[in-house]
Amino acid sequence: MDEKKTEGQLLAEEILFEGKDGAEAFTQEEYQRADEFARGYKEFLTKAKIEREAVQETVAILEKAGYRPFENGKKYTSGEKVYLNNRNKSLLFATIGRRPLSEGVRIMASHIDSPRLDLKPHPLMEDTGLAYLRTHYYGGIKKFQWPTLPLALHGVVCRKDGSTVTVTIGEDEGDPVFCITDLLPHLAKEQDKKTAAKLFDAEKFHILIGSLPFKDDKASEKVKLNMMKILHDKYGIVEGDFLSAELTMVPAGPARDVGLDQSMIGCYGHDDRVCAYTSLRAALDVTDPEYTHVTVFADKEEIGSEGNTGMKSAFMRYFLEDLAAPYGIAVRTVLSHSKCFSADVNCAHDPVYPEVTELSNSARLNYGVVITKYTGSGGKGGTNDASAEYMAWVRRILGEADVLWQSGELGKVDVGGGGTVAKFIAELNVDTVDLGVPVLSMHSPFEIVSKIDVYSTYRAFKAFAEARA
Ligand code: MN
Ligand code: MN
Repeated sequence: MDEKKTEGQLLAEEILFEGKDGAEAFTQEEYQRADEFARGYKEFLTKAKIEREAVQETVAILEKAGYRPFENGKKYTSGEKVYLNNRNKSLLFATIGRRPLSEGVRIMASHIDSPRLDLKPHPLMEDTGLAYLRTHYYGGIKKFQWPTLPLALHGVVCRKDGSTVTVTIGEDEGDPVFCITDLLPHLAKEQDKKTAAKLFDAEKFHILIGSLPFKDDKASEKVKLNMMKILHDKYGIVEGDFLSAELTMVPAGPARDVGLDQSMIGCYGHDDRVCAYTSLRAALDVTDPEYTHVTVFADKEEIGSEGNTGMKSAFMRYFLEDLAAPYGIAVRTVLSHSKCFSADVNCAHDPVYPEVTELSNSARLNYGVVITKYTGSGGKGGTNDASAEYMAWVRRILGEADVLWQSGELGKVDVGGGGTVAKFIAELNVDTVDLGVPVLSMHSPFEIVSKIDVYSTYRAFKAFAEARA
């Protein structure tokens, strides 16, 4: 074949860059592996819709794989596996490498929270014979996507006596679901005039939860009373317990294959449990690493990485400090020699909305894991910007492992923007780059990813965790 190529074609092959389409580049066997991998991912995603559930599921998987709770003061040796559960909402786990910690660790950091509708501290109300829960949304949502959608209630209620009840309603077959109602088109003339941002008032994002009253002629707000009675009977909680609860409404139902070819996965919350799961699987598979690899599942990314379970918290730094202390190694030495894959989803080019992405610098579905040198907005504001040197290292290790990857920005230059946990890790003097899975309909109740990209992201993490240089 080569003889037939022209000089220009051969030159182009040699010196021009051409991205690979995984749908073409993947062999049948590779695609089978991607599909198999997706099965485990869909199960995880279906079970882990909020950060607490992701921590719980992951700890169970880690325990099975031989990970043990981290013991402060213990001198760990290569091959040992530890985890640290931070308040059931963020998680760290590590496999100790052969090299000393003074040579740095390999950090894979993702987040396990997703945009959703949190309940207010006083959520329960009744209006005109119907009972509702008041909400306060969490993270960046387009409000018009949430009404008339089956919702499930997830979270915990902590009672004054110190006991905690886990609540999940709306996921099992036979469970009821909940929803926000919307106007019928017949009476929506005024509503139709509003812009999308003003279509729904967040203050009226009330979740319909019941309509039957408690049978008593003298009681007031009998529907509300009846709802509280149902919750009390099932969970042993009283209305005041909502004040010490973290309850949230998320889209109900399992992760599902999308497309006649079943090449994609649709679900709530790919962002960013798709990166959490792929890094977890890579961490499990690299049992004898050269460098210690540390996987971080952070909370609160969607609201700015705040709080003691978010990436701005010192929990990762303290963990590394405690890990290194028995060897007399300062944490600054560990961090200064470390490398990080800050793993988060990026937007995929959507042919229906081509105006927001610049195709040459946008991720596309089926082109593999997306490396994002910088995110931010308004001229790279608020981003880590990976160095050329580190980008070269990343290209090399992904190339050597034959990982399908692409480069992508978060949309056109001045169209919008966003951030990830990357900058908080980079601030600790760690070489950091963003990478992850391209997503369609990001932050919607039904986000779409491709199986080829999910599998390629797992392979990228694996290459990172086992890299010897
Ligand atoms: Mn994210
Ligand atoms: Mn997000």
